[in-house]
Amino acid sequence: MTRNTHFLNADLHCHSLVSDGVMTPAALARRAAENGVQLWSLTDHDELAGLREAQEACRELDLPFITGVEISATWAGRTVHIVGLNIDPDNQALKDGLEAIRAGRVDRARQIALRLEKMGVQGSYEGALRYAANPQLLSRTHFARFLLEQGYCKTMQEVFDRYLGDGRSGNVRIHWSRLEEAVGWIVGAGGRAVIAHPGRYTYDSTQADAFFDAFRQLGGEGIEVVTGSHRPEQYRQYAEVARRYGFMVSRGSDFHAPSESHIDLGALPELPSDLKPVWHDWM
Ligand code: AMP
Ligand code: MN
Ligand code: MN
Ligand code: MN
Repeated sequence: MTRNTHFLNADLHCHSLVSDGVMTPAALARRAAENGVQLWSLTDHDELAGLREAQEACRELDLPFITGVEISATWAGRTVHIVGLNIDPDNQALKDGLEAIRAGRVDRARQIALRLEKMGVQGSYEGALRYAANPQLLSRTHFARFLLEQGYCKTMQEVFDRYLGDGRSGNVRIHWSRLEEAVGWIVGAGGRAVIAHPGRYTYDSTQADAFFDAFRQLGGEGIEVVTGSHRPEQYRQYAEVARRYGFMVSRGSDFHAPSESHIDLGALPELPSDLKPVWHDWM
């Protein structure tokens, strides 16, 4: 195969209402196609339930589709997100692993609500649940939508800065999955493991290097460089990490909702031309 797919408009990270997005998988597929996406993946948090609908919609739209998931994991006491691409959604170990993570979310949501109550916010469990199409997947995003609705804050960013983000009381830390489990499930399901939005983790540079090393040793192959969660200088920073560790590179908007996401599906800049895209051998 000689066709050069490097500059394909690939968008390999976004969320439907199966996790903390607001659109159905089919509506996202249509939006991706309308926006000129040429290779698309749906990567809901800890959940595969939207993939069938996404795949069927893509078949009708003639939009090349890659199965995906974004797995919550814990490494060195912090949360990291590992995207799995081109996974077999029927793989039993992967399905069981994700089910266990989702079970942890239910109890965590109760704890978040208790913490918010102490901060003067009543009824947030039920309130968040109203925003969650999938009650197994209660996320901080759903709590944030409730806090916005109730007028506690004006923007999503403010909600995370004051109530739900790193170091804030509403950010209840739990053990998600171990990094080796998350990568192992992805690789075991025939997929490619990719570090999601590395620029969002608050590791110092020694810890970050140890994280990249551990990920690579476990069989992780890729890293997101161009993502809706990075600023342009972080595109350059993580391109350099990819060169240093020999990672393939990925590109994804991390689109959640038209009114919340600052980068739309398919609206990302290109990847640096010297790096190998995660999709290089898929097209
Ligand atoms: P959870 O998996 O329940 O911990 O929720 C994490 C989700 O919250 C992420 O996937 C994002 O969608 C959202 N999120 C985290 N930090 C922010 C932020 N600063 N602004 C907006 N959304 C955020
Ligand atoms: Mn999210
Ligand atoms: Mn993420
Ligand atoms: Mn995401």
